Amino acid sequence: YEQAKALTFADYGNPPAVLSLHSHSISPPHSNLMTLRFLASPINPADINQIQGVYPSKPTFTTSLSTANPIAVAGNEGVAEIIALGDKVKQEGFKKGDWVFMKGPGFGTWRTHAQATTGDVVKLDDQMREGISAIQAGTVSINPCTAYRMLRDFTTLKEGEWFIQNGANSGVGRAAIQLGKKWGYKSINVIRGRDDKSAEDKLKSELKELGADVVITDTELQSQGIKDMSKEWTNGGREKIRLALNCVNGKAATAMAKLLSSSSHFVTYGAMSKQPLTIPASMLIFKDIHFHGFWVSRWAEKNPEDKKATVADVLEMYRKKEFKDIPVDEIKWEWETKGEELIAKVKDTLEGYREGKGLFVF
Ligand code: NDP
Repeated sequence: YEQAKALTFADYGNPPAVLSLHSHSISPPHSNLMTLRFLASPINPADINQIQGVYPSKPTFTTSLSTANPIAVAGNEGVAEIIALGDKVKQEGFKKGDWVFMKGPGFGTWRTHAQATTGDVVKLDDQMREGISAIQAGTVSINPCTAYRMLRDFTTLKEGEWFIQNGANSGVGRAAIQLGKKWGYKSINVIRGRDDKSAEDKLKSELKELGADVVITDTELQSQGIKDMSKEWTNGGREKIRLALNCVNGKAATAMAKLLSSSSHFVTYGAMSKQPLTIPASMLIFKDIHFHGFWVSRWAEKNPEDKKATVADVLEMYRKKEFKDIPVDEIKWEWETKGEELIAKVKDTLEGYREGKGLFVF
């Protein structure tokens, strides 16, 4: 029997109020079951929304972790190692020591160990795994995939053409900068201004080091002279800004759309400001801007093979040192770590202006 601990919730609500650390044991795996030991699981904004009950994909509430009332394990992304497996799992080509990531949302990754079936996971085959750290494998399947598909699947940018994005320092934003750079696209990157100017400058240069051509604050984006500045960056407007990636919404998103060339594409994938997206009708009628939404979970469910190939491609970039690790706030989860400590860390991630994504490391 394997002893396991998990951050779980029985009701939707504010994470610090509803989360608790639950201990249980896992019976030895037989048939199509495997026992996983988690290595790294991030705290993504969607995980928080899921606990709050406002995320469209719901976790599984179950009594199988030995509770009287159904509970769900929080967390959607992560990488785990197979530590034991049943015969049928072996027949499908899995072995002890293999690394797997989650096939889709809802599995529950904020836990030390879990029981899973082959249908729950995607194996990192030996080639994908080579030279890859647990942090890289544990954060590759959502943010970089989202950036990758949004840059490729809504329009075909030519080398030297521009995209613009807000939330540029997010996991998705940082991936978009690096992928765009590799593929020869130029980027205008919008961040939220910092009260502390030196922190703001530091963030700007950090993103430039990743390959950002221009980094501005949302205030700069909404300032009077922005059209002229944009012309300057784009060689008098001769280089087109043909794609926008929207993580934030609100006024700053509308301002971003105004910089697009005619007949461009605007893709919304996040809702960080919790503000609606307001679009002047003229943008649709006269400027022919195409507005889209993107959800990587839906895309991956429809295109499981492409998902694996996209992940493999990003991992290859990691190996070639063409892709940098996202900054993370590592949260060591040892067997003795108290529930309060873990939950306090989850609470921290509710605040913005962070230097890195929270990541449980086991
Ligand atoms: P990270 O945790 O890496 O970064 C969060 C980002 O949000 C930071 O840029 C942060 O900026 C910004 N932010 C936080 N609070 C606010 C606020 N009140 N107003 C404006 N910006 C804010 O995030 P991820 O990259 O993991 O996710 C970013 C967004 O993308 C989320 O909304 C997430 O749900 C969504 N997403 C969507 C996917 C999809 O398939 N549609 C897939 C992956 C993510 P600052 O440093 O200034 O606080």
